[in-house]
Amino acid sequence: MNATQQPIVAQKLSQALKGVINTKKLHKGDEIAFTYEQKTRLGKPYTMPNIKVARVQLGKKEQFIYVDEDGYGYTSADKSQAYTVNGKRKVTYMRRVPVSSKNSRFGMPLRHIRITSGFSYRRWHPILHRYRPHHGTDFGARRGTPLLAVNSGKVIFAGWMGGYGKVVKIKHAGGYVSLYAHQSRIRVKRGQRVKKGQIIGYVGSTGRSTGPHLHFGLMKNGRWVNPMKVLRKRSIKTSILKKFTKYEKVKTTKYKKVDIKGAKENKERLLAYLKNNIPSYIWGKEDRPDMRAYDKEILENEE
Ligand SMILES: [Zn+2]
Repeated sequence: MNATQQPIVAQKLSQALKGVINTKKLHKGDEIAFTYEQKTRLGKPYTMPNIKVARVQLGKKEQFIYVDEDGYGYTSADKSQAYTVNGKRKVTYMRRVPVSSKNSRFGMPLRHIRITSGFSYRRWHPILHRYRPHHGTDFGARRGTPLLAVNSGKVIFAGWMGGYGKVVKIKHAGGYVSLYAHQSRIRVKRGQRVKKGQIIGYVGSTGRSTGPHLHFGLMKNGRWVNPMKVLRKRSIKTSILKKFTKYEKVKTTKYKKVDIKGAKENKERLLAYLKNNIPSYIWGKEDRPDMRAYDKEILENEE
């Protein structure tokens, strides 16, 4: 400010050096030489000054700052300058979402329901005469009553299974397996696909049984569950893969090619001035209190 005597020139120089050199590192004896362009009228500054190029000498280190049309300085006249851009990026991803499906709803294994024994982890066994878990529901029914597949699926077992007697096991969607025990006659084969409500066998008393009934078991993901809790559900919760789209905020570093017009010529001109010791323009010699008053004067003259 003291050197230029023209606050606007000092401001423009400050803008050009900002972020390019660390002005805190400037010491007494360091030099800043620069050229600028400014139109004059009647021998007096008239337009905004445009800094062209500056030579900064910090100790023995010499550096040139090239200034673009907007007044911002760069250490190189043609180097790519990094700048960050805040943007958004579209991201699609798949996720499992729970859905209620009435299609996967279970039906009853018999047309008429009469529960004689429920699911229990500890039940007095009438034949073994000790406490045993009862991993299913017993339905009372006459011998020969048709047994219905509780849902569509694939028969994974059809045959004799120890105390369960004649058994059919059906694998369903959602990790379920249903089991129909003590049958008098099996009507399906292993590997067969069955529909919901299809007859898969008939009530009997085969295996360890005190009389004709259906022992019905239901597994989910390999564990016995209380069948009635599942069979009575109005809908079954399953999950499906769904596609989602969201926008993420991203910061991208971009590079712009800085091309400062006349950078080379301006540098050469500055160097020539410095070399030949051409006297600089001395602001102090101009009788000019400030720009605003000066502009007013011009307007008055033009009128
Ligand atoms: Zn049972």
